Amino acid sequence: MITLEGKVALITGAARGIGAAIAFKLADFGCRVTLSDIDVVGAEKTAQEIKNSGGEAAALAADVARLTQAENLIKETIDKFDKIDILVNNAGITRDNLLMRMSEAEWDAVLAVNLKGTFNCTKAVIRPMMKQRSGKIINISSIVGVIGNAGQANYAASKAGVIGLTKSVAKEVGSRNIQVNAVAPGYILTEMTKDLPESAKEAFLTVIPLQRAGHADDVANTVLFLASPLSDYITGQVLHVDGGMVM
Ligand code: NAP
Repeated sequence: MITLEGKVALITGAARGIGAAIAFKLADFGCRVTLSDIDVVGAEKTAQEIKNSGGEAAALAADVARLTQAENLIKETIDKFDKIDILVNNAGITRDNLLMRMSEAEWDAVLAVNLKGTFNCTKAVIRPMMKQRSGKIINISSIVGVIGNAGQANYAASKAGVIGLTKSVAKEVGSRNIQVNAVAPGYILTEMTKDLPESAKEAFLTVIPLQRAGHADDVANTVLFLASPLSDYITGQVLHVDGGMVM
């Protein structure tokens, strides 16, 4: 039986979608959770829902692209819950365009949140985790970071960068009993994908062996595994949650 009783997790981008599902899942298994988002009203609402169903949750505002805000986030989580055992770098954005039309601002925005945001929060958490000689860092990448996608050069580069960051940090902190892994979701039904053209949604389904889109809970279940002691001997890995789309 998996339990996260006594553990503390911080999930970024947790107001809605995959981040909210992860927060609910970890709380369901006894973890105390900090939900952080640039949309703090949304994070507070989700944290309240977790509390209403018996969990322990707090909401904090932070733009992960800003190192000082990431540092404050880790500090405030430790102030509130005394420690931090699990960091889920989930906050992410898209600004899709073909490369020839992509503006510098579209490139910079995606790299700043998806890749630098993951760096910022990881850098801020690594010292307390090294001191306590344990920790789980789970980075939400994407299969697009593995196989690329036309119209998403910025997003694919950021998510491929997250994989390189994951493997490098895993090698740096393994001796301190800190596991660092990535999850690469495929086509998951959230706000991020709801405006995809119908033709793109249909095209996805033709290349998914399990013949359905994924749900946020499919990703949350994988994060639960990586956050739990069941994955203690797994580090530097990328787990695909994509119905078999990329294998
Ligand atoms: P989502 O519904 O758009 O949720 C992302 C959350 O992150 C939003 O609440 C958003 O707030 C927040 N956020 C944006 N910028 C932020 C920042 N600078 N600092 C802190 N929070 C910020 O997306 P999702 O589908 O749940 O995706 C979650 C993660 O999974 C992302 O990293 C995404 O790239 C990845 N992923 C998703 C899919 C998919 O099919 N959905 C597939 C592969 C990977 P605002 O609403 O205020 O912007």
